[in-house]
Amino acid sequence: MIPFNDLKPLVGKYRAEIDAAIARVLDRGWFILGPEVEAFESEFAAFHGTGQHAIAVANGTDAIELALRAAGIVRGDEVITTPLTAVPTVCAIERAGAIPVFADIDPATCNLNPDAFRDAITQRTRAVVPVHLYGRPADMPAILAIARPAGLLVIEDCAQAHGATIGGKCVGTFGNLAAFSFYPTKNLGAFGDGGAILTSDAAMAAKIRRLRNYGQGKQYQHLERGVNSRLDDIQMAILRVFLRHLPAHTEERRRIAKAYRARLGSLCLQEPGSDLGHVYHLFVLRHPQRDGMRQWMSDKGAGSGIHYPLPVHLQPAYADLGFAAGSLPFAEAAAREVLSLPLSIGLSPVDIESVCDAVSSFPQGAR
Ligand SMILES: *Cc1c(COP(=O)(O)O)cnc(C)c1O
Repeated sequence: MIPFNDLKPLVGKYRAEIDAAIARVLDRGWFILGPEVEAFESEFAAFHGTGQHAIAVANGTDAIELALRAAGIVRGDEVITTPLTAVPTVCAIERAGAIPVFADIDPATCNLNPDAFRDAITQRTRAVVPVHLYGRPADMPAILAIARPAGLLVIEDCAQAHGATIGGKCVGTFGNLAAFSFYPTKNLGAFGDGGAILTSDAAMAAKIRRLRNYGQGKQYQHLERGVNSRLDDIQMAILRVFLRHLPAHTEERRRIAKAYRARLGSLCLQEPGSDLGHVYHLFVLRHPQRDGMRQWMSDKGAGSGIHYPLPVHLQPAYADLGFAAGSLPFAEAAAREVLSLPLSIGLSPVDIESVCDAVSSFPQGAR
């Protein structure tokens, strides 16, 4: 079976570098908010250009929550986002005290539709959280052109889009703040949970450094109420290894995507324009008989994933937000039709061909 995602080749390839990184931390004996955290934060900030600040936190969900809190979101504020995202985007908005409001997607890209975002703005809207879904940059120029004049904060959810670019500029540097996840399967993944916030605002960065450490500024001085959302030096030492290899891994993901697109063209999502640096966290097809296709592929030994089988507004847990079935038709249709093909570092050309054979042999009209 060709697995949808396999981290073992990645671990094998870098085992010596990772062992050395972990050994360095063990030998030093400083495990939380130590020198590896500081080094990773400055390397991750520099990766995004000058004038950026990065703050490591415990996971990507915390990163979104703390970014919203640092930006001044308070109870009852409305925050607009896409319904076709990982549920944590919405968990974080609620944890920050805000009310999630969904705006539909653009079916060609599966990202937030700027016109739908504009239509969802009310008197109580304070922020928008665009998600760079599947590693494809959301339409930030259009989103900013709506958000700025309306006085709305923009918090980018970059959990799937490390190093993605628009006109050569990294995602995460367009909005007021950005949140990243380092969950093991992300494009930049640790061997445990991890996350980070990126901002060019030094005061917000300082505030997040306090919020992640129980609101502590100087030792035992608490000017505000925070949480425990620290990241440990072992994870940071591992991430420093993978950050060095991120550009090469992005190139590999793009090569895999190109090979899929060459054979499966019309089933693929719209090809990004030359100004967009898509980083292919996922390579996604759309097919009206998605579930039949998935079973067919599985019978032929090809794994796959679905991102996501239900848009967040149709999850039972979020029924009380008041978005009925049919209210966000493009996201609902996408959730019925999207299928993610195997994509991980080390996926062989032979496996890519086998996946393409499995997809293209699916009988048209079959159920
Ligand atoms: C993974 C992910 C998150 C959450 O990150 P965690 O580190 O798992 O908390 C948030 N948003 C999106 C779009 C994600 O893919």
